[in-house]
Amino acid sequence: MVSEMSSAYGDALTRPFWQGAFERRLIIQRCRECGAHQFYPRPYCLNCQSDAVEWIDAKATGVIYSVTTVRMQVLPELLPPYQVAIVELDEGPRMLAGIEGGDGSIGNRVEIRWRERENLPPLPMFAVIADTGIVRERTLS
Ligand SMILES: [Zn+2]
Repeated sequence: MVSEMSSAYGDALTRPFWQGAFERRLIIQRCRECGAHQFYPRPYCLNCQSDAVEWIDAKATGVIYSVTTVRMQVLPELLPPYQVAIVELDEGPRMLAGIEGGDGSIGNRVEIRWRERENLPPLPMFAVIADTGIVRERTLS
């Protein structure tokens, strides 16, 4: 059943990413010409425009580049407050993802956590693994 869904989920460009998610693998693109990594997926390399891009397993660790706390409910299944962050992966690309536990600060080391979803591929989230943050959350007045 999972394989049926994984082969059908996403479009031609994003399907490999979601197939990886079904296997709890965070995969990103790497250029075979220049070695640059990129996320989200594109049909060519952003660095050298080569179309020789391949999928590789990311380490699935990184650093919180930016983070915010959502305090208003925008989806029925997401109860606030929760954190959404831009995570800079160790390979370089940045991705938008939730922070499990809601205790993230800029600069924290994070690693992947897969959030299970019914009838959908698991969603990549991150959790803080080292409190190396240099900037604490500020509340706007
Ligand atoms: Zn390239």
